[in-house]
Amino acid sequence: MPAFRPLPASEEAPATHVRTRTPTVFRAAAATWPAVKDWSFPYLASLDPGLPVQLVAGNRETETTRFTTSTLGSYVGRLTRDAPPDDVISYLKEFDLLKKFPQLRADLRSSELFPSGTIRSSATWIGPSHARTGLHCDLLDNLAVQIMGTKRFYLAHPAAVKQAGMGSRKYDAWARLSLISAEELAAGQEHGDFFVADLEPGDVLYVPAYWWHEVVNLTPGVLLSGFFGPRTRVLSRWAWVQARESLHRAGLLGRGNCTCHDHRGSEAGRSPGGA
Ligand SMILES: [Zn+2]
Repeated sequence: MPAFRPLPASEEAPATHVRTRTPTVFRAAAATWPAVKDWSFPYLASLDPGLPVQLVAGNRETETTRFTTSTLGSYVGRLTRDAPPDDVISYLKEFDLLKKFPQLRADLRSSELFPSGTIRSSATWIGPSHARTGLHCDLLDNLAVQIMGTKRFYLAHPAAVKQAGMGSRKYDAWARLSLISAEELAAGQEHGDFFVADLEPGDVLYVPAYWWHEVVNLTPGVLLSGFFGPRTRVLSRWAWVQARESLHRAGLLGRGNCTCHDHRGSEAGRSPGGA
């Protein structure tokens, strides 16, 4: 199997480097952010312990999509403990922490990272060790900040999945999915751009749009994603995504095979309406 090479680090400012459209890691670029220095799981859990949260159970990119529910207090509070991993790992994904708790914006220095004139959308990924997002690529560039814990990213060139004939038809609003894992993909190819990067708190990763990536927590952690782009590009992608979303909600696209509806019942032969 070709080894995943360590992703080269850049000393450039992220806002400058992203013009190259090549993935890179900026070590400690956010190390002085108050969020990186001060946030903890008990602190985040205490913001609104009773807040209901929807969790993704298992790897929805390559397996059946399933959701469970919990509360911020019991889910995030539990991440501090060395509890043995559950049979099925649940993961708080795409959680809009900053919308729920606007006061947390004061702990970020995002304007230091992003090119001027771009618009951006942030969300958090909060989960235990072994929490995983299967191999996929996104429609927008991403500058992701590791806030807490250690997270491993496997990256593959935009052409790699198509060349392997392993693109998935599973519907996802803002991403394209692969039928196989990053390791399986790399195992079938002698050459190609395959990288790995372990993010520590304060590290920033640039994942250009359409670069494939699979992500796994090495410890419990919090990641802040930052999808961004020039206003015209983001708005045109957004309009296209909304049009596809309307078709999906009407049951005309990706019915029964998506990352946004629970498909637990569909394996037993039930026909899920609209999803
Ligand atoms: Zn759906």
